[in-house]
Amino acid sequence: MTQVYNFSAGPAMIPAEVLRRAEQELCNWHGLGTSVMEISHRSKEFIQVAEESEKDIRDLLNIPRNYKVLFCHGGARAQFAAVPMNLLGDKASADYIDGGYWAHSAVKEAQKYCSPNVIDVTTTIDGKRGILPMNEWKLSADSAYVHYCPNETIDGIAIDEMPDFGNKIVVADYSSCILSRPIDVSRFGVIYAGAQKNIGPAGLTLVIVREDLLGKARTELPSILDYTVLAENDSMFNTPPTFAWYLSGMVFKWLKEQGGLREMEKRNQAKAELLYGSIDRTGFYRNPVAAANRSWMNVPFQMADASLDKLFLDQAQDAGLHALKGHRVAGGMRASIYNAMPIEGVKALTDFMAEFEKRHG
Ligand code: PLP
Repeated sequence: MTQVYNFSAGPAMIPAEVLRRAEQELCNWHGLGTSVMEISHRSKEFIQVAEESEKDIRDLLNIPRNYKVLFCHGGARAQFAAVPMNLLGDKASADYIDGGYWAHSAVKEAQKYCSPNVIDVTTTIDGKRGILPMNEWKLSADSAYVHYCPNETIDGIAIDEMPDFGNKIVVADYSSCILSRPIDVSRFGVIYAGAQKNIGPAGLTLVIVREDLLGKARTELPSILDYTVLAENDSMFNTPPTFAWYLSGMVFKWLKEQGGLREMEKRNQAKAELLYGSIDRTGFYRNPVAAANRSWMNVPFQMADASLDKLFLDQAQDAGLHALKGHRVAGGMRASIYNAMPIEGVKALTDFMAEFEKRHG
């Protein structure tokens, strides 16, 4: 069978070794004669999964003790509502850095709860999409927090360097780049991420929240989105997505075995450089993002002759290079190269791209 490499943007990119381990223990977990998804979330066995996974992610991200780690439901979109409802307090506004599709989606949800101060930071740099320098971002004086998205999954735009927001409470949607490299958690008020890219299966959402921000939720906030309620109940206020949680815990252990986030950073940089280098080599392919703002995780590209797209995608599929079709709002192609994608997969893609160009260039 042809080796398959899956370049899907999600849901769920799981390292092959983790899937194999999970397969082995699917029907008989820890000798219990049953699957982990069938045992009680309050059993001592599952509590151990929960505790170990929290410890492992704390180790990986070096999360300070004054932060709670919550394992939630609802995906990142639930957090688009949970963030304002938990953090606005008596303020009427929050700053929203708008750098792409997902940041913009967060604004639209926030508009239900406040009047966001939307700061459009997109610009054109040498004919490509990019991000304005930070000194041109107009933050407001009296906002409850500032929200931004460091990796725009659809646009392929990244704000890698954490901006200096002064003493503002910073909230970040890390859905598509969490665990891809080290970050300084202590500079954030809240970090959230849908699990389904670098963490584990869809259904789980990670929230890391500084303790002093708890207890400010609006009373009408549904309990299931209330960080304080979730923290007080160790993320078990209602039945958690136990299988997704368990598998995410296995991904955390895999990351530690690989050498942690410094090692992921090296690998992700190498993969991105290989792919962008190959796209930039001639004018046959083109990435629409300015060099300084290119994502290491999601790499959109087009061909000069868009009528070749279908042929490219069909032949790539036959060659075992799957899910390269661009997002429906962006078109063209997109290769998502999360932690689970080995460099061999990117090499297979760049070899295929070079061959395709030879035949059709
Ligand atoms: N934010 C980002 C950066 C995303 O990539 C996505 C989904 O891909 C979302 C938010 C929405 O996530 P969810 O589908 O978990 O609500």
